[in-house]
Amino acid sequence: MAWTPRTTEILRAVAAYQLAQQALAAEFAARWAEALAAVEARELAGALTELEAQYTAAVRESAAVSRTLSVAFYRLVRALETGRVIGGPGYRPGASLGSLWADFNRATGKRTGTGPREVLPVDTRNPFPAEDLAREARRAEETFRHQVADRVEKHERERPAREGSAALDDAELVAWEREFLESLKTGSTGAGGMLVQDGGRDAIHAALQDDPGAIGYFRVTDASPCYFCALMAGRGAVYKSRRTAAFGAHPHCHCQAAPIFSRRYQLPSENTKFSRMWRDFGGGSLADWRTYYSTTTKT
Ligand SMILES: [Zn+2]
Repeated sequence: MAWTPRTTEILRAVAAYQLAQQALAAEFAARWAEALAAVEARELAGALTELEAQYTAAVRESAAVSRTLSVAFYRLVRALETGRVIGGPGYRPGASLGSLWADFNRATGKRTGTGPREVLPVDTRNPFPAEDLAREARRAEETFRHQVADRVEKHERERPAREGSAALDDAELVAWEREFLESLKTGSTGAGGMLVQDGGRDAIHAALQDDPGAIGYFRVTDASPCYFCALMAGRGAVYKSRRTAAFGAHPHCHCQAAPIFSRRYQLPSENTKFSRMWRDFGGGSLADWRTYYSTTTKT
């Protein structure tokens, strides 16, 4: 008997997965905010080594959780859509919809679904790439250098001139320091949160390419995506090919890729809403869409 995709359950898993990824980025942000808050603005330069250790550890630990979560999500959605289990990390013999939901619930920390204990057929292939710890460490270090160390060093070089300037009073200097800190925090938090979620996004994208059972993905956004992400989500399914392999996440973006394994997939209602908005917009430049989108979503 042909398997009937469990559409409602898939959509529930997709929504829970997006929220869990977003929560990982938020956890990272809170941890990093705490580390930054412990250092006085004028002591940043002397604390870079310590801050780098905290930043890279927070990014890498959360990225590893994101990766585990994404593997559980991918395996669950695949089974709900095709009735078959895929191998790879976390796979256990005798897997059922019940055990896959349990794995997913554990990874998200929430009880989103349950399923029968009937053992499912297995595709033993492992489509998930091996973790590349050296590459991940390098990415986190480069991001820290770019977002924090380089900027702090530049700021330090600018300070003597600022302090020596008779045109600036104390209040202006304080504001200058505060603005710098805010901007440093926003930039490093956005870039770090992206690396965290990329732990999972990259695992899903690599698996899609290497899994003959996968046909593509759709973009699932957070509750208030930017105009670019709304447009991407509104396009619906992206069928896999080398050309479409890039996802296009950006800092402070909580979009995730939800894999598709059959043409009978269903899009979340948000995606349908964005498609409708795009149709009503009637076409035009990206700048025009941006204006249209911001006025439409405000009302
Ligand atoms: Zn986004």
